[in-house]
Amino acid sequence: MSRKPKLLPIHIYGDKVLRLKCEEVQVIDENISQFAEDLIATMYQWDGVGLAAPQVGVNKRIIVIDAERKDNPKKQSPLVMINPIIEESSGETETEEGCISIPDIYAKVVRPSNITVSYTDIKNEQHRIKLSGYPAVIVQHECDHLDGILFTDHLSTIARLKIRNKLKELQKNTVDGVNIRCEE
Ligand SMILES: [Zn+2]
Repeated sequence: MSRKPKLLPIHIYGDKVLRLKCEEVQVIDENISQFAEDLIATMYQWDGVGLAAPQVGVNKRIIVIDAERKDNPKKQSPLVMINPIIEESSGETETEEGCISIPDIYAKVVRPSNITVSYTDIKNEQHRIKLSGYPAVIVQHECDHLDGILFTDHLSTIARLKIRNKLKELQKNTVDGVNIRCEE
């Protein structure tokens, strides 16, 4: 508990780690809880409302979200979800999305508006919750990361054409399958 969270490097569009299917967490130990703290600190560093383990180069099914952050930027209410599974979804909503791994690109994505998600928390307790609207969108975006899916994959051909050059620009910095965002 005395350990200060570490800020982790962000892997950017073009990095192959963003396209892998992540592995389930088998044991929730001290390493996992420290990693979750690092993930939360890194999310806040980039003013994010969510962050998934592969975005910091870790191939594990862990996400952190803070859906209240948008309306209440001063308050921190992080939620850690380990091995999250979206069990049910319904409805439809369109939201402008962005991603810490795809800097400066935003686009409207259509997703289900209501979900039921099950996950394990950092104390190894199981949860099953219903979410709608913005929190549901964030959880879907972050769960996609665990399967190597990015929000740009959900766009129509026309919408993707519009951002194609920007994506190419980001991808250009990839070296040997790795593309890490430099500290500013
Ligand atoms: Zn993302």
